[in-house]
Amino acid sequence: MYKMIVGNWKMNGTSADLEEFFDFANDWLNPMFDLMICPPATLIGRMTGTSVMIGAQDCHADVKGAHTGDISAEMLADAGATHVIVGHSERRTDHAETNAMVAAKTNAAWNAEMKVILCIGETEAQYRAGETLDVLRTQMAESIPDGAMKTNITIAYEPVWAIGTGLTPTLQEIADVHAFIRETLVARFGDAGAAMPLLYGGSVKASNARDIFVLPNVNGGLVGGASLRKADFTPICSALE
Ligand code: PGA
Repeated sequence: MYKMIVGNWKMNGTSADLEEFFDFANDWLNPMFDLMICPPATLIGRMTGTSVMIGAQDCHADVKGAHTGDISAEMLADAGATHVIVGHSERRTDHAETNAMVAAKTNAAWNAEMKVILCIGETEAQYRAGETLDVLRTQMAESIPDGAMKTNITIAYEPVWAIGTGLTPTLQEIADVHAFIRETLVARFGDAGAAMPLLYGGSVKASNARDIFVLPNVNGGLVGGASLRKADFTPICSALE
């Protein structure tokens, strides 16, 4: 089965962290799986050139124009990123991003020949109300554009209540949700949906990574806090081997 680990640095990382990154990359000269770091955009250009792939954390839906402070997919590709995260819950919350905006960003990334890691996930209130599958169904229907296939999209299931909290769903819950995501993708995209990689994200750490990564329909992880330090991230990557 295809395997991938993505480290999402969020709004963390300056030049002072590059030495540790290159030291980490050196340990993974030929990883047996796709290994990616999504640093802040300011570091993308300085982190390319190793076997660790470099992704961005967001892009604007337009190619260029009067959008002060925003970055287009074309610019991120030009800086050296091959992938871009879209629809992360922190973007949905902090910047009021809707499913329609996530779909537009996905199309923009594809137009720039970038691949997308598209995040979906329910809030704690939705989880408690038993609405998880309904929420995911709507997010997938509205934010994944037609034309999605394994070579241009990876879906990351990230329960909002598990991000940065130390809490995770049970292994059974993760397996059930990933099975549901797979079924939904197959129903819409057929064979292409069967092949799209699915990542789990939300408080992945060394102590739970191995158990999560062996679950059916889990192709790897999207890791936030634990990707910032080599000492935390290395054992998570080793758990996938
Ligand atoms: P976390 O974040 O690993 O710190 O919970 C995951 C994410 O937001 O991608």
